Amino acid sequence: MLLSELSGVGRDPAGGVTRFAWAAAELELRSWFATRAAALGLDVETDGNGNLWAWWGASLPGTAFVVGSHLDSVRSGGEFDGPLGVASAFAVVESLRASGWMPTRPLAIVAFADEEGGRFGLACLGSRLLTGAVAPSNALGLVDDSGTTLAEAMTAAGHDPARVGADPSRLAKIGAFVELHIEQGRMPLADAFTGERGLAGADRPVGVAREIWPHGRWRIDLAGVPDHAGTTALADRVDPVLAMAEGIVEVRRAASELGILATVGRVRVLPGAVNAIASSASLWVDARGQDPDRVRELVALVERRLGVAAALESWTDVTRFDAALTADVSAAVGGEVPSLPSGAGHDAGVLSLAGVPTAMLFVRNPTGVSHSPEEHAEESDALAGVAALTAVIRRMAS
Ligand SMILES: [Zn+2]
Repeated sequence: MLLSELSGVGRDPAGGVTRFAWAAAELELRSWFATRAAALGLDVETDGNGNLWAWWGASLPGTAFVVGSHLDSVRSGGEFDGPLGVASAFAVVESLRASGWMPTRPLAIVAFADEEGGRFGLACLGSRLLTGAVAPSNALGLVDDSGTTLAEAMTAAGHDPARVGADPSRLAKIGAFVELHIEQGRMPLADAFTGERGLAGADRPVGVAREIWPHGRWRIDLAGVPDHAGTTALADRVDPVLAMAEGIVEVRRAASELGILATVGRVRVLPGAVNAIASSASLWVDARGQDPDRVRELVALVERRLGVAAALESWTDVTRFDAALTADVSAAVGGEVPSLPSGAGHDAGVLSLAGVPTAMLFVRNPTGVSHSPEEHAEESDALAGVAALTAVIRRMAS
């Protein structure tokens, strides 16, 4: 099976795999990448931001056609998110080489570094540093749970953090990027598949990405009056935890009303004592959906309900994948190919925002569950993904 040689790497006793950037399991996958590439006669390099590249015909004229994904995972994540795209690319090159096919433009397999942000908290770090979307000064000082900085983790893994930073000449060399990825969620479909959810609903092994939904993160701080839990009458309290709870319920109610996704996955209560009324409570809102106005409307509703302003921590506009490249990818796959929105961010989205023509292929995940040990693709669907990627490379790189 496509990924079976990796299945033991970073296996978590609690289930799933944990492969954080620059830690032992991920370094093992990096050496697997280098070994696999070398066995296929590809030229391997690590760029300044720690992204791995395997080149076929690097000296050919023209811009490169690039395929790949990432190798790192979230904590106790699935085996497919990331490695499926990289392993599929190697499988394609292996069969194309065996068939005697040769690219007429440079072809590269990439494994972007630290896509999940599972260790240092910032997603798509390898691609964002490459495109200049994140400055080295905002990345190298990020710390993991044990207080190790990104710079220290890179150094320990033998990568010089002084090399980190925007790489415009490498970016200019990428003529197009196609990322194959496990399907995540059971997203609403359009066109011939309207009314269906996900590739399972469409009864198709492979689909293409249409867009990445706009996505915002906000923090809401609520102030209280700290006091003794045993001596303060209920009527005299200013308890921010109650307001926080109301805010959480309002986020869910508004998301349902507006038809978008919104989540409170993190809260903070200070000082956090069992026997004290809190002095402050904070909640973080993650909201995304097809319509950016509705995403902002949700936050406005929550602000009105709580009577405080939310602080915007990040905003990413809708990322539309390249229509012409996506049409080429669909044509290469053949037949009626469902196009799905993505609620999750990807390196392909980062490259798209930097102006690289980009498309994505999704391989059916029957339940849609991801970032979980339950994440799954049937072998036959994974092979359909390989066949699709083969057709795309034959069409785009010769
Ligand atoms: Zn991924």
